[in-house]
Parts: sequence; structure tokens; C-alpha cells
Amino acid sequence: MLFVRVLFLTRPLKPLLYRIPKTVESAIALGTLVQVPLRTQLLWGIVQSIHASLPSTEQLDKVREVHRVYTIEPTYHAFIKRLARHHLISEKTLYTRLSALSPKAQKKKPAIWAPEHVKYNALPTLNQEQTEALTQIVENGHNDRLPVLLYGCTGSGKTLIYAYILQKAYHENRSSLLLAPEITLAQNLAHTLRSFLKNIPIYELHSAVPTKEKNRALKQILEKQPAIYIGVHIPLLLPIARLEVCIIDEEHDAGYQEKRFPYLHIKDVALMRHVTNNMQVIFGSATPSVVSLERAHQKHFRLVKLKKRFYHTALPHVESILLDAAHIRKEGWISPHMRHAIQETLDAEEQVLLFINRRGSHCFARCTNCKTTLRCTSCAVPCTVHYDHLLRCHHCCLEYPLPEICSCGGLSHLIERHGVGTQTIAQEAQKLFKMARIERIDLDSLNDKKRWPEIVQRMLSRDIQILVGTQMVTKGYHFPHLSLVGAIWADMHTTVPHYLAYEQTVQQLIQVAGRAGREYDRGKVIIQTLGDARLATFAHESTYPEFCIQEKEIRASFNNPPFSKLAHLILQNEDEAQLEKECAAVRQHAASFFQDDSSILLGPARALRYHYQGVFTSFFLARAPSYTVIQTFTKSLSDLGLMSRITYIPNPTSNLF
Ligand SMILES: [Zn+2]
Ligand SMILES: [Zn+2]
Repeated sequence: MLFVRVLFLTRPLKPLLYRIPKTVESAIALGTLVQVPLRTQLLWGIVQSIHASLPSTEQLDKVREVHRVYTIEPTYHAFIKRLARHHLISEKTLYTRLSALSPKAQKKKPAIWAPEHVKYNALPTLNQEQTEALTQIVENGHNDRLPVLLYGCTGSGKTLIYAYILQKAYHENRSSLLLAPEITLAQNLAHTLRSFLKNIPIYELHSAVPTKEKNRALKQILEKQPAIYIGVHIPLLLPIARLEVCIIDEEHDAGYQEKRFPYLHIKDVALMRHVTNNMQVIFGSATPSVVSLERAHQKHFRLVKLKKRFYHTALPHVESILLDAAHIRKEGWISPHMRHAIQETLDAEEQVLLFINRRGSHCFARCTNCKTTLRCTSCAVPCTVHYDHLLRCHHCCLEYPLPEICSCGGLSHLIERHGVGTQTIAQEAQKLFKMARIERIDLDSLNDKKRWPEIVQRMLSRDIQILVGTQMVTKGYHFPHLSLVGAIWADMHTTVPHYLAYEQTVQQLIQVAGRAGREYDRGKVIIQTLGDARLATFAHESTYPEFCIQEKEIRASFNNPPFSKLAHLILQNEDEAQLEKECAAVRQHAASFFQDDSSILLGPARALRYHYQGVFTSFFLARAPSYTVIQTFTKSLSDLGLMSRITYIPNPTSNLF
């Protein structure tokens, strides 16, 4: 007799054991979807483990029989196998990941919001350039099915092309996915598509979706009816029948890597499903990643370009300002030039966006004497200063009062606040423009469910004159009367020790600049930096190709992707001394394992949350010509008999774990 442990997809319950009827035994594999009785109901779940005999902890008379088995295309299991192999994890881990669909896994998320101003009755007609792009993409789908890179400038109407692709797939009885790097963007896309494609079933699947809607989506999947699924990460892992199209919007965004184990990188996952299931993959962006552009250059991706903005307006005019430290100390972060431009914009009754990628009032606080940075007592991450007197940890959300003094060396020393955040900029702007209506938007204001849609509405009705915000405002929002964008401290993050830091900064600046004057020719962008003049020259969509060429040269000289593969190896131990000893052992092992110069193990370095909840964390960065080399090395670590927990993360997009 065969038994299976079933993980419930729609209820936050412990997995339960069920019996398999003899007639369907052959249809059972790990990951098979089954319908099982629970009390008086029938629920859907996923087979998490298979047992040839009754586990000793169970009683046969209590074990009920599986009601129905949902057969999945064999290619789906091939996909999960491949994915597990790539991440050096078990298939069970991936199937368990699907339980994210259950209501318990839902975290509190921002309010579901969609812009009111988008109202279409039918699918608008494509312009000539869009028509040509669509033809190229669709024909490619019939021929060699290379993944497509749709490189279309801001406002070139990529979403409309997506709508046509998705509509076509549906009419051919196929299902498709549309993914966005953030929930709010996914909601935005869903709203737009629903207005375009009235008679096509469109389901959202992400953590902000209510259980009822998730169940409806699940039902659609189980009935194997074609549909469009919109989400961030999860939909790509589901056993959707005839899933033949996957569109990944804003493909350059680091949000496509999951922030928890097993740290799946959705773009890589899509490429794997492309290989195993012959699913067509379309990556879209106004600022494609350097790696994707190189893949297109090497003919591994097909490049399709959109060069014209939909409203036929010119790109905004970009100016750069070098910030003066003395001026910042005396007058604040808004330079005289920026101040003048803001005044002009207000006089013309238009709107201003001031962008600073840090919430709070200051980046951090430290002692003037011992230079100790004030850190969170729970997770050791440097705290951000809020409202000038509060320390807040952006990792675990703990708050502390900001101490005025440090008593190092037996004496009292002043605590200094450093850097700047949205709160300070909003205050400074209010001081300079006393009569202006100013609002601030960042993760803090998003926590208040009503404020976010309210602010967007007030922007659209021109009630807000100056909006101060973080990267949240850089994507997807369209304010017709916004004509000036000011980046307060554009080179703030360029010194972060990660090979993607510069590329991400440039992409973000271009995104935020793209908010200026989208329906008018008057868009103006002012970039303030503390010294990186190179950055200002690239903060413009038209110079992005040039940036990518230079960035590629820098990557080549450091042998970073696209010229190599990277992976993080994270070591964790409750015993600090043992962690250090074992890190040294890993290092020594690498020295003998990597014989030639093409592969290297860098580190160990301490994680941002080095000491968190009693566990110490250090990490290595492995670089090699292929993942196979790094995987073989990682597997060989088991010979060392280490006690530390080892986590392997291929293609890491940040150091923040
Ligand atoms: Zn001190
Ligand atoms: Zn913390």
C-alpha cells in the first residue's frame, strides 16, 4: 500500500498522511496535486513525500483515502528537478515553497490599489513600431523560440504589446504569466490588463491577494482552463497546464530574486522552464540589465527594440549639479539651482518630485569620539534615524530612542547624525517653499493603507505640489503634470560593495527621470551628486547603451557577470569561534580546489546581520566560468565534516541577508 504526506495549498495546516487507491498508484509522484478529504470537506494539496509503508507514528484506521489525482505534464516535474539541481536543494523544498499560497503565509501587505485614471473599453490599436515589435516576438515564438529581450524606452507602450501577446495565447487555448518585481506593480499591470482584455480570465497570485481570489485561481489551474496569471514569484512555480508564455516586466529589477531561502532568481527559473517546457519567455525593460543585453549580443536572446515614446514627446532634459559639503551643512541638501527650478515649476502650476533613496531623517548616527555606529540590539544592522530623535532598524522594525551622548573612554561624547532621508528633505523643502503643499511617500507612509492611494489621487488632481519619495515612486506611476524631477543625492548607493550597485543606481535614476513630463515636452531632471560626475552623464535613457558598453568593460576587467558566474556561500553557526575556524577551513579547501585563475573564492565577510537571534553568519563569494564548477566545490565541502549550516545562492543580486 502506498501512502503520501499532503501539504494543503489553501489552508494553513500541518501536512497530513493519506492512502493512495491502487488504481492511481502509478500517477503519484512528488509534487502531484491531489484532492483529499478533511472532515466534511474536499481540499487540494500537493504530495510532499511518498511512503511505501505506513509510518510508525500513524494508525491505519485514521488514514483516509485520496479522493482525486490531478495529472500534471511530465515536463513540469522535469522543470522542478532541474530547478532543484541548480540550487542544490531537494525537490521537496520547492514543492513546499508552493504552500506560500496558503493564507497563513500571507504577511501584512500594502493596500490593493490601482490607478483610477486608466479606463479603456477595448484594446487600443498599436502604432507602427509596436506592430513590428509584436510581429517579431510572435514569429519568433513559432520559429527558434529564443527568449526575447524587449528593449523599449519609458512610455513606449510595452504593456500594450504584452496585452496583445497574452490575448493571442488565450485565444490559442494556452495559459500565460505576466510577472512584475513588486506587488504594487503587479496590481497595476493586472488593473490595466483587465481594462484591455475584458473577456479573458485574469488572476493575480501574490501575497496581497485575498484567499477567495487565490482559490478561484487555483480552481482555474486544476480545471486546466487557459487563463492569464499575474504575480511576482510564485506563479512561475505552479503546475499550470499548457503554460506556454511568460512575460517578465522590468527585467533588470533586483526584486526578481526572492529574499528568503532558497533565494530563487525568477529570471533564471523562467529560463529553466523555457528549456524543459518549451515556454516562450519575454523579458521587458526600458533599461535592460547588462547581462541580458550581452546575452542578446551573443544571440542567446532575440533583441526587439521600441525607440519611440507613445505620446511622441521628447525625453526630459537632464542637468547635473555637484553638491557642496559646506552648502549642505549651512543651507541643506537643496542646491540654489534646484531651488530656482522648483520655484519656476511651482510658478507654472506644475508638480515637482524630489527623489532620495532613503527613508527616515538621517542614514545613521555615530559617536563623535569612538566613531561607533549605533546598531540594532536584535540584529546588529546600523539603525536609521527617524524624526531626528528615533532609531529604527529597517530589518526587524525595532525602534529605540536616540541617545544624545556616548560614554566611551569614561567621558561623555556627542552622538552625530549623518546623511539624509525623505523626512529631512520634506522639512527643508517646506522651509524654502512655505506656501507649497508638500507630501512624503516611502515605505513608512505605505504602512498606512489609506495614505498611499490618497497621495496618488492628490498627485493626479494636482493638490500636491512637491512630492518627496524613495524608489517606490520611480516605477509605473504616471502623473501628467509632473514636470520637474530632482534627485537629491544620486550617488548615495554607488559605493555599496556589490558589482550590480552602479548598474542599479543608473537604472533607478533613469526610471525616476522618466517620470518627468510624460505627456508634455517640458520635462526637466536635475541630478545632484557628491562627486560622481560620470553618473550624471548616464542618468538619461539616451545614454544608457553607452553606459552598458563602459560597464561591460569594467565587468570584463574584474571578471564579473556576464563574463563569469557568481554564487554566495553562507555559513551559519551558533558558536562564533567554530564559525571562524570552519570559514578558515573552507578558504583553505578552496585554495587547493581552484587550481587555475579562472575560479576564485572571495571572503569570508561578515553578513549585515552578523549576529542575529543567537546565530553568527559569514559568507563567501564564489566566481567561476560555470555554475558546475561552483556546485562541485560546494558539494565537496561535505568532505570537511563542517558543523555550520551552509546555504548556496546562485546569481546573487545583493549582499543583504
Ligand atoms: Zn563613543
Ligand atoms: Zn533589527
